[in-house]
Amino acid sequence: MMNRRDSVGVKVGEIQIGGNAPVIVQSMTNTDTADVEGTVRQVMDLAKAGSELVRITVNNEESAQAIPRIREELDKKGCSAPLIGDFHFNGHKLLDKYPDCAEALAKYRINPGNVGRGSKRDPQFAQMIEFACRYEKPVRIGVNWGSLDQSVLARLLDENARLSEPKPLSDVMREAVITSALESAERAVLLGLPKNRIVLSCKMSGVQELIAVYRALAERCDYALHLGLTEAGMGSKGIVASTAALAVLLQQGIGDTIRISLTPEPGADRTHEVIVAQEILQTMGIRSFTPMVISCPGCGRTTSDYFQKLAQQIQSHLRHKMPEWRKKYSGVEDMHVAVMGCVVNGPGESKNANIGISLPGTGEQPVAPVFEDGVKTVTLKGDHIAEEFQELVERYVISHYGSNPGNLAAAE
Ligand code: SF4
Repeated sequence: MMNRRDSVGVKVGEIQIGGNAPVIVQSMTNTDTADVEGTVRQVMDLAKAGSELVRITVNNEESAQAIPRIREELDKKGCSAPLIGDFHFNGHKLLDKYPDCAEALAKYRINPGNVGRGSKRDPQFAQMIEFACRYEKPVRIGVNWGSLDQSVLARLLDENARLSEPKPLSDVMREAVITSALESAERAVLLGLPKNRIVLSCKMSGVQELIAVYRALAERCDYALHLGLTEAGMGSKGIVASTAALAVLLQQGIGDTIRISLTPEPGADRTHEVIVAQEILQTMGIRSFTPMVISCPGCGRTTSDYFQKLAQQIQSHLRHKMPEWRKKYSGVEDMHVAVMGCVVNGPGESKNANIGISLPGTGEQPVAPVFEDGVKTVTLKGDHIAEEFQELVERYVISHYGSNPGNLAAAE
């Protein structure tokens, strides 16, 4: 296992970020926060998919009033995911006017570039920190490239212009992002917020910029770091860009919590960003969440889409079962299931997985050998291979991960 950077642990409700805790997955809702029912539903979906923290925008009075009701509804429904309030421009006013909102949130996100303009910036930032102190909440000081504190940038540009050999503009911009985060954190500490209640982020939309900024940030402080590529984009571009950036940093032990900022396709499920975050961590061997399906890409030897459908069905089934399995079958998240298209690599991959099936390729005998722990246990044939294999996977889970021996009997 790779070495993680040492960071000061921050408790957000019952969840710890940094300080040797596992890398935490978080997400953000896109409902109107004032719509209590819709927001509760989405938070529950995100939490069920594995989001350990959920951020909600608190952008106006209606949303601030909704927060305690959202918390209450979630508690009633047994969802304990801590809620993070995302504040911009008017956070100091909302936290002042709605103490129940301040209390119900487990953490406040403060963007130093959007906390107030000109002479209002410092007092309004101080007010936000005072609320965090009063309600004993942690904060994320979340700098964003797109809303960088212009006063910090102007100061660094002036200093740069006075150098005998001025640095390129891109270097000054990166430094401004880092300086904004570090100076804001320093101010928060001076205002009385302990270091173990501060998480930092410096989100950029370019992969190389993000990597450069976080490497520097990681060297210059020991605050817990929230990683994410901002405005990652849509579809495969958003996933690839986020993975490219985060993988490099995570591999160097940098990052205590991650969020994948995907633009959802219209009507698409918001939980996709949670699954991508988990898959980045799991495929890198950092943390396991759900049994992994190993499937081949298929080729001319698989002229039907039967095996693609089976791989998809098994993957969705495993995800669907995980909330229940997580409670009953410890270690099941490390299981590997192989679904392979033909005899070329099928038996080999199936033998290496915990349980695997090698489907018949075009022109092969219509039988599908199943391997469990490297040994062929059964050969499936006929029209119900998919259902029968799913059942075998269930039985494997019960017999290998069930701590209660009665589980096995119940399955028989
Ligand atoms: S296992 Fe068979 S079907 Fe799958 S990619 Fe390899 S040769 Fe093609």
